[in-house]
Amino acid sequence: MKRNARIISVAAMAALGAVATAALAADLPKVRVLATGGTIAGAQASATDYGYKSGAYDVNSLLSAVPNLDKLAVIDGEQVANIGSQDMNDEVWLKLAKRVNAVLAEPGTDGVLITHGTDTLEETSYFLTLVTKSSKPVVMVGSMRPATAVSADGPGNIYNGVAVVTSPGAKGKGTLVVLNDTIHYARNVMKTDTTSVQTFESLNRGPAGVVHTGKVEWFEPMDRKVGAATGFSVDALDRLPRVDVIYAHANMSADLIDAAIKNGAKGIVVAGVGDGNMTTPALDALTAAAKNGVVVVRSTRLASGITLRNNEVNDDEKGFIASGELNPAKSRVLLQLALTQTKDPVRIQKMFYEY
Ligand code: ASP
Repeated sequence: MKRNARIISVAAMAALGAVATAALAADLPKVRVLATGGTIAGAQASATDYGYKSGAYDVNSLLSAVPNLDKLAVIDGEQVANIGSQDMNDEVWLKLAKRVNAVLAEPGTDGVLITHGTDTLEETSYFLTLVTKSSKPVVMVGSMRPATAVSADGPGNIYNGVAVVTSPGAKGKGTLVVLNDTIHYARNVMKTDTTSVQTFESLNRGPAGVVHTGKVEWFEPMDRKVGAATGFSVDALDRLPRVDVIYAHANMSADLIDAAIKNGAKGIVVAGVGDGNMTTPALDALTAAAKNGVVVVRSTRLASGITLRNNEVNDDEKGFIASGELNPAKSRVLLQLALTQTKDPVRIQKMFYEY
């Protein structure tokens, strides 16, 4: 009899515990994790050797490796792709952006976390910041070490990423990138180191904030148009215009410019030397291209600084666009979206100033 009573009371306590957990969960924010692959989902043959395969683990395996995540939010995982981000392409961008917009439109969802490879994370994040309709938080994380590595950085980045999604200050800031305890605006962030965990930097402006063991501090507000304010929409898009990036160097010829145009490029971004400069043959080829309706953006191959309009190149006369703070990879993203609306270099230059 006594024994039965004890069993009943243990069962009652378990039931109470379940009710309390359910009540707690009901109070927690709801976060959807959209996984796309990358080193964060990568597996090695040996935990201490070079060599691994990106995108080997699925979203549920990634989430289960993060302790205490369920104390921050109620999380649902969804696999959108499972690729190394060196293979990222327009098709996956459009699929991901449409998914982000659909998920954020659900009244029960408070924000989105995206796991992604680090190689092209700066491009995908800028694409999403320009086309996401909702002001609910969107945060992207990756990792420099595979999930199987000694001291893998992925779980900590996912934990901090979810903490930023649930932070009240994250709303309306556009897509954010969180790695190694640092928060960056998509527009400003760049991968700067091939292997270091401190690879993401916002070299012109500094980071948006920091996040230590889930505690978030913000530094600077976002002063550019993001999300719905840009007027871009992916709703009716099933492809993006071709834009090529061409790298300038000593003795640069016009050959790659001609090849890009021959192969159907609607826009060309030059990763120029210095302040967006290039050789005279290259400049002449691009001047002719712009006259024929190809949209030309001058950016820089340097890691920081502003590509100024009408500095050493007369952009007004040639009908070029100066990229300002945007590096070649981000300039390409903005030009692809701009070309879905216009080919007018004056209008596109305005977008480069405002976004
Ligand atoms: N190549 C990998 C990728 O971008 C690198 C990484 O995720 O860190 O998918």
